Amino acid sequence: MEAANTNLQNEVINLIANLKNYIKIPVGISNKHVHLTQEDYDILFPNEPLQMKKKLNQGDDFASDKLVTLIGPKGSMEKVRILGPCRRYSQIELSMTDARALGINAPIRLSGNIEATPGITIRSPHAELYLEKGVIIAKRHIHVQTDDARLLGLHSGQNVVVKIESPERTAYLDDCEIRIGDDFSLEMHIDTDEGNAVGASNDSIAHIVDILR
Ligand SMILES: [Zn+2]
Repeated sequence: MEAANTNLQNEVINLIANLKNYIKIPVGISNKHVHLTQEDYDILFPNEPLQMKKKLNQGDDFASDKLVTLIGPKGSMEKVRILGPCRRYSQIELSMTDARALGINAPIRLSGNIEATPGITIRSPHAELYLEKGVIIAKRHIHVQTDDARLLGLHSGQNVVVKIESPERTAYLDDCEIRIGDDFSLEMHIDTDEGNAVGASNDSIAHIVDILR
């Protein structure tokens, strides 16, 4: 009886230790988009406030009503959405396929890390603006709310392996960086290339299967 109890206790301890493996993480697929400083926004859309079209899941992020054209050395892309609210830095997030089509050799970076990144031209119906830097391919990441992170034993900057199940394309993805914030809610962000590669949709669920470092 005592042995059985100990086994059960061990199982419970293991279960709690591995809680993060049982958590269902909703997957959000990010299409190419633009973040702008207020200053850059005002050049492109003078006297037109940035309005919310759809609220997004993280903090006060929203998809705005404003679209711009991106122009690179090899091509251009129309109807690229600006996300709000305005930020302290202007940043353009592309998939690798988008970057290649525009002729821009963009690095994989976490949002906000834009030092020594390539520039791009942005055109609105009113103006054209050349940004000297800010083009990135967003590194895949998982947003975790601060209290949830504590409960799950996850730390900012950790990289984890997740499994995403999909018909015929179930995949394990390495290098998923944990990002923690008070106003975050649990969600994994991948781009359209990654989503297509693993057959994911916005209904997909990711499970953490391993922690790397
Ligand atoms: Zn994100």
